[in-house]
Amino acid sequence: MSNRLNATPNDLRAFWMPFTANRQFKQDPRMLVGARDMHFTAADGRKILDGTAGLWCVNAGHCRPKITEAIAAQAGELDYAPAFQMGHPKAFELANRLVDLVGNKMAHVLFTNSGSESVETALKVAIAYHRAKGNGSRFRLIGRERGYHGVNFGGISVGGIVSNRKMFGTLLTGVDHMPHTHLPDRNAFSKGEPEHGGDLADELQRIVTLHDASTIAAVIVEPVAGSTGVLIPPKGYLQRLRDICTQHGILLIFDEVITGYGRMGAPFASNYYGIQPDIMVTAKGLTNGVIPMGAVFVTAEIHDAFMTGPEHLIEFMHGYTYSGNPIASAAALATLDTYKEEGLFERAADLAPYWQEALHSLKGEPHVIDVRNIGLIGAVELSPISGEPTKRAFSCFVRAWEKGFLIRTTGDIIAMSPPLIISKGQIDELIDGVRGVLREVQ
Ligand code: PMP
Repeated sequence: MSNRLNATPNDLRAFWMPFTANRQFKQDPRMLVGARDMHFTAADGRKILDGTAGLWCVNAGHCRPKITEAIAAQAGELDYAPAFQMGHPKAFELANRLVDLVGNKMAHVLFTNSGSESVETALKVAIAYHRAKGNGSRFRLIGRERGYHGVNFGGISVGGIVSNRKMFGTLLTGVDHMPHTHLPDRNAFSKGEPEHGGDLADELQRIVTLHDASTIAAVIVEPVAGSTGVLIPPKGYLQRLRDICTQHGILLIFDEVITGYGRMGAPFASNYYGIQPDIMVTAKGLTNGVIPMGAVFVTAEIHDAFMTGPEHLIEFMHGYTYSGNPIASAAALATLDTYKEEGLFERAADLAPYWQEALHSLKGEPHVIDVRNIGLIGAVELSPISGEPTKRAFSCFVRAWEKGFLIRTTGDIIAMSPPLIISKGQIDELIDGVRGVLREVQ
């Protein structure tokens, strides 16, 4: 640890930490001071195996020289360029590279600084698109229970996490939610896509009928819901959503903040499932988590709807001071180079069967009521302690930290999403580590 901070509660008081039990943390801080490849270094010098790619973002592993060098070089060459009415080459190069990477009908990219901003941007594009086409009555947004779309007002409105919504008033109006697809009674211990629940997509048809399609702008879902415990879409579910949206002229937005950039063993979940969204929201792995940046992809049809009217007018009144920031763009380009040169998406696809079997070896361990996986994502659901939900999984997280590996917990679910550079030996180490803590916790 830096000798400027001794980590007494007094030193830690000014930073109000995000999504953290601050009072508890500041009594017993878990402090990281370094990282390389598959490991963090803790303040006490211990190596911590990163089973979560940070927060689902460090897909190429930590402190990769190509990325850190690109950032340093860009910082010395062009540190900042005004984002409005001016450009710099790397943002344009990056947008072209991204469109090539996704390789479907996505044709244009808007840049943001986070997943949350990407979500807001996507929702605004969707509503404005319909207005641009003369369909101003299409204002409703449909999300899903247990959906996580970041923390801004649009995102928590379409999101379906009660604890993230309940303190913040009326939120956006005109929002409705489909049911989630978590069916533990029918799908427990499914490998990959679960068999049951594809018909839940028909709930969208019910909602469309209720509100009338002419009032609905867009549906937003995570192809695989990550933050609420790795909910993998049942077979046929996403295609059915696509079909209903197409039938009714509703835009389908995929929030690929977690599933993007190789996590599924394909560039994006859209590629993995072969389903074409109208708008795609990304962030995290775009820069390997190193620099804040997000990218929102849209089809040519959406983009072109805005390119009408007098040429001197701004087509879409939206953007951020740091949209397409030069240093972030350089980091993203170096990240995409790293993914490509090292074949990391293919590597993730190759490792996925081994990952699946390793994870499912946890079936039968104490407290385990479900194991789920897809690509290099996995979850282990635990039976809750009566009256103290979330406590058992959180105890696992704390013990894992003490033993030198990082897992993530959400409710009574342990989630894992290692960097795509993980070796089979490290997969075993991680899963055996989880097995060990499961046997220890009450
Ligand atoms: N959407 C999804 C699906 C996410 O998983 C996240 C972050 N976990 C976000 C949006 C928000 O991203 P950020 O924290 O970068 O704002």
